[in-house]
Amino acid sequence: MTTRILSADVVLPGPAGEAIGDGAVLVRDGVIADLGPRAEVAARAEPGTPHREFPGATILPGLIDTHVHLSLDPGAAQATAVAEADDGELLLAMAGHARRLLDVGVTTVRDLGGRGNLAGRLRDAVAAGHLPGPRVLTAGAPITVTGGHFWFLGGEADGIPEIRAAVRRNLRAGVDVIKLLVNGSRLTPGGPRGWHRQLTDEEIAAAVEEARRFGRPVAAHVLGADAIEASLTAGVRTLEHCSFGTPAGPVIEPEARDALIATIAASGAFVCPTWSITMSETAARVGEERMRPWLEVARQQYENGVKLIAGTDAGTPGVPFELYVDGLEWFVRAGIPTEAALESATVIAADALGLAERTGRLAPGLDADLIVVAGDPREDLAVLRDVQVVLARGRVHTPAGSGLGARAGSVRAGVVGEFAVGEGVGAGVAERSPV
Ligand SMILES: [Zn+2]
Repeated sequence: MTTRILSADVVLPGPAGEAIGDGAVLVRDGVIADLGPRAEVAARAEPGTPHREFPGATILPGLIDTHVHLSLDPGAAQATAVAEADDGELLLAMAGHARRLLDVGVTTVRDLGGRGNLAGRLRDAVAAGHLPGPRVLTAGAPITVTGGHFWFLGGEADGIPEIRAAVRRNLRAGVDVIKLLVNGSRLTPGGPRGWHRQLTDEEIAAAVEEARRFGRPVAAHVLGADAIEASLTAGVRTLEHCSFGTPAGPVIEPEARDALIATIAASGAFVCPTWSITMSETAARVGEERMRPWLEVARQQYENGVKLIAGTDAGTPGVPFELYVDGLEWFVRAGIPTEAALESATVIAADALGLAERTGRLAPGLDADLIVVAGDPREDLAVLRDVQVVLARGRVHTPAGSGLGARAGSVRAGVVGEFAVGEGVGAGVAERSPV
């Protein structure tokens, strides 16, 4: 039995507004056994329980990236490069990606489309303790039309019978969620554009019905307003991108926009805007003013009770696995309160993934998925870049490059990952006993 206490200036259990000053978390056998004020937790613990203090730091739930593609190489010119690697190469690369996610404090990811169900192999290897990484949920090959978006991942299906068969094949392969590519995407060379429909209303409904039969939720890649509506009607659980797109941008009539936002809020579906470092790059190129329509749509959704969740689309060209915080900071730039952004990264994200009873919060009985960061992220999300220790289902992971001090902003290739494990660890961290 492994038991340890971690304490810090602040413990954030997860829900906005909740905070424990001078708090502590007691972890036993991978599960949170106790939390509260430091003195109380220490008094309730067995005498001699190892206790590590983190002055000036905050303990909060591990971050959740609800939208990644572990098998894609973010450095590749085209996502199609994934089709050329063999399974062994891909799995090794995916293990590296999982490690990078864990380094930046991401303890749960949902892989929304990869080649075959290699992500399922990785999921099982991490769960068994063979590899460091976040908990993985996987969609396997995303379902698309012949020649449609991500066709090269192996999930082509046309018409209702083939769609049903594709869903069943994925379920047989052991996926956790079904991913539907309802619209096209610029990521697939020569494929339909983002505002073009790929799947009909009936095909979406058939896929959702088939997934439901096996108790699995559906995530839908939707950019156009009509695709969003059709997915909600069918009972999709999470709307990916959800950018209200048209050929000219997110410019549907304000009245139609308001009505659609109300429909999303009433449906209970979750929305992942898939914001990442690319938002910052686009803003630098075209000016933040041009980003306003997208930011407005998100802020309006937040204000109208739509459950927004954080996800980066990491793995797609130009979106590295280690820049989670860059996407989250755009929630705040859109006018969403910082604590609400943190909920989108933890509590609400876990709920969206059906993991509310396992992770996303710090509470007795939940898995010990937590991070220690230098500073208070309620004041500035940037401190999330200085992750000192990660616990993933209770397993301790010291991030590569930790202890280097908070970084003002992310760099594409640089600080994270350059340092061997253990280097620079502990600077500024008081250690009473090893965690
Ligand atoms: Zn994606």
